Amino acid sequence: MREAHAHLFQLGRSLTMLDCSGCDSRQALLELVGSCNESLAKNDWVLAHSARPESWPDPHWPTRQELDHASDGRAVCVWCFDYHSMAASTAALDHAKITSDTIIGRGVIELDSDGSPTGVLYEHAALHLWSSVPEPDAAHRRAFVLSACLHLKELGYTEVHDLKAQPWLGQVVSDLHTSSQIDQRFKLYPLTKDLGETLATADQWESDHLTLAGTKIFTDGSLNSRTAWMLDPYTDTKTTGTPMMSPQEIDEAMLISKRHNLPVAAHAIGDAAVRAVLDSIERTNCTDMNARIEHAELIHPDDIQRFAQLGVIASIQPCHLLPDIETLHAGLADRLDRVLPMRALIDAGLVPGESLIFGSDVPIVRADHEDSIQAAVHRRRVNMPKSESIGIDQALTIEESLTCFNAH
Ligand SMILES: [Zn+2]
Repeated sequence: MREAHAHLFQLGRSLTMLDCSGCDSRQALLELVGSCNESLAKNDWVLAHSARPESWPDPHWPTRQELDHASDGRAVCVWCFDYHSMAASTAALDHAKITSDTIIGRGVIELDSDGSPTGVLYEHAALHLWSSVPEPDAAHRRAFVLSACLHLKELGYTEVHDLKAQPWLGQVVSDLHTSSQIDQRFKLYPLTKDLGETLATADQWESDHLTLAGTKIFTDGSLNSRTAWMLDPYTDTKTTGTPMMSPQEIDEAMLISKRHNLPVAAHAIGDAAVRAVLDSIERTNCTDMNARIEHAELIHPDDIQRFAQLGVIASIQPCHLLPDIETLHAGLADRLDRVLPMRALIDAGLVPGESLIFGSDVPIVRADHEDSIQAAVHRRRVNMPKSESIGIDQALTIEESLTCFNAH
């Protein structure tokens, strides 16, 4: 099978981080953070992922003071499951030099009623803090990538696409291949801003089973944080989300990539983001070159036909639907029939496995293909009544879904 949307380094690293997916309250999260105190040195960081505060009875992140207390004052950062927000302790904020006066473009530093940071960070503010966490050394990087590849192999994936490949990733994967520790095929999509650095070494590591396949851009945020960019306002927040790139910036990225004969893979979750990418592909004449739209959770009916017309690949992670069902009901109740319109895309000419492809976005969700099959075929979680299905008219068959994973 092919896993068309993974993040190898992050997956490997997340396998060593605290997993908060089992925490059903703020208290449970704080207890989990505290449970590592005895095994950690004073200056060690506590890194955690997969918290889901909006699913808790009291849907609020712990404050930085609560994290300070639970961790004996360590630097703590806890990612939300979708990696668009996080809660950080005072030591972590101090390390990243984040204060109440800090301004980070396209990021939010939440403040309490006294005007001091609560520790909750959104979008680029969370990324800013994350980039200040001490970097693993080369040996750890290699170990993380290896454990991610072996994890995906175990799940049956013989081809893996990395959708935010670091400039060093190609060499690491190549070395692991050379030493026969892995045997899968890989396609790498570095960020457009990292393309130059990646190209500088590509001839040293590209091979039949490992290629630089395109570049990645982020045009909007996520549904959960209401930063996915919508044509019409969310029904609950009345906002339309957050475009992460202007049309000009998208065009520039398309043209930089095209100059190297590489397609762009564009993260676009909301229907406004999807439309902005399709418009740019048309304007920059990047048609029929395997440009990809990643996620495409909401597509306006007027844009469905444009995928096939412009030769654009829909790279979808149906598994996201399963944890998103409550969010979809809360924020997009008036347009649930437009969520992941895969049947309409096929009717309009997309071909399962070729121009309609599946991945998981691991480690944001687990990579088990059964989750995406469940979402694509039943459009709801296993234990839910049929009436809870989201856009059941857009359901695929099991065979079609497996074909989207290139399963043989
Ligand atoms: Zn991703």
